[in-house]
Amino acid sequence: MLWSSLSPPWRCVCLEEAWAAYRAGSLPIGAAIADGAGQIIARGRNRIFEAEAARRLLLGHRLAHAEMNALIALDWARVDPAACTLYTTTEPCPLCTGAIRMAPIGAVRYASRDAGAGSIALLGATPFMRRRPIAVAGPERADLEAIIVALHVEWSLADAAAATSARSAERSAFLLEAWSLVTPQGVGLGRTLFASGRLRAWRERGATAAEVVDRLAAELAGAAGECRRVARQEAFAQPLGAASGRLAGSAWPARLRLARAGLARLPTADADVDARPPPAGPFGVRRGVSGSAITIPPSRGGWSSPWIVRVTGPARTRQPIAP
Ligand SMILES: [Zn+2]
Repeated sequence: MLWSSLSPPWRCVCLEEAWAAYRAGSLPIGAAIADGAGQIIARGRNRIFEAEAARRLLLGHRLAHAEMNALIALDWARVDPAACTLYTTTEPCPLCTGAIRMAPIGAVRYASRDAGAGSIALLGATPFMRRRPIAVAGPERADLEAIIVALHVEWSLADAAAATSARSAERSAFLLEAWSLVTPQGVGLGRTLFASGRLRAWRERGATAAEVVDRLAAELAGAAGECRRVARQEAFAQPLGAASGRLAGSAWPARLRLARAGLARLPTADADVDARPPPAGPFGVRRGVSGSAITIPPSRGGWSSPWIVRVTGPARTRQPIAP
């Protein structure tokens, strides 16, 4: 099972904290800090929408991020931050990247990229940020990344559906489009979780983080098996016309049943297609065509949307795609 294969900082702290944050109504992000010997000496979670805490923490406002809370929980009088490693489920945002540098923490490991707010690249942005090298590693593994992104997508869709503010709907649309380009598997899974209401049901009955992670990992594995079956049948034998970086609507093979679920936008008319190939995830099917890739979370194994297809070409710049 995925859960038991994870190392303690992820299993015992980060994912437990992320699920605790989700259950408390905040963003599902958890963080941990380990000392030079690998001992966990601080932990934190996102607490943006929480009102009470037993000890000194950031909570109840938009700066109450998981990494910030882990850094605040650190005993600065006793610990040398430069000898520590910060673990976080999600690539740090600009705020947390700045705090990591100001600490300064010696190393950062994150489990999933965040194409929306992730800003770990800022560590190289200015001479000051570069002055103390910070070792950065991430993402950890494709299935764990997809699960974490799925939790975010589900949370974001629920937030937008609740219409708490116009800003939440706008933020959700922006994040989903950004995440779709880099972590399409996680977006597909998150959309099905939202549509089915399963994650909220698990929260209501007090499911553990281990149960949630292993259930979602099983769904991903089922989707990967289906994808391999499709690949064997060569259902997508023909090139998709992405080699030039432009994709005509007529170039879509008629045999593909395209679902809008899972993608913010599908190119249905002449359009430039985003150039970034998705990473080889559990269901990436890479074709022999230069620059093209297909990602298919299929209907089997709990996926409710029939097909989700993303085609990428070698174009350098991203253009708006007709809805
Ligand atoms: Zn942050």
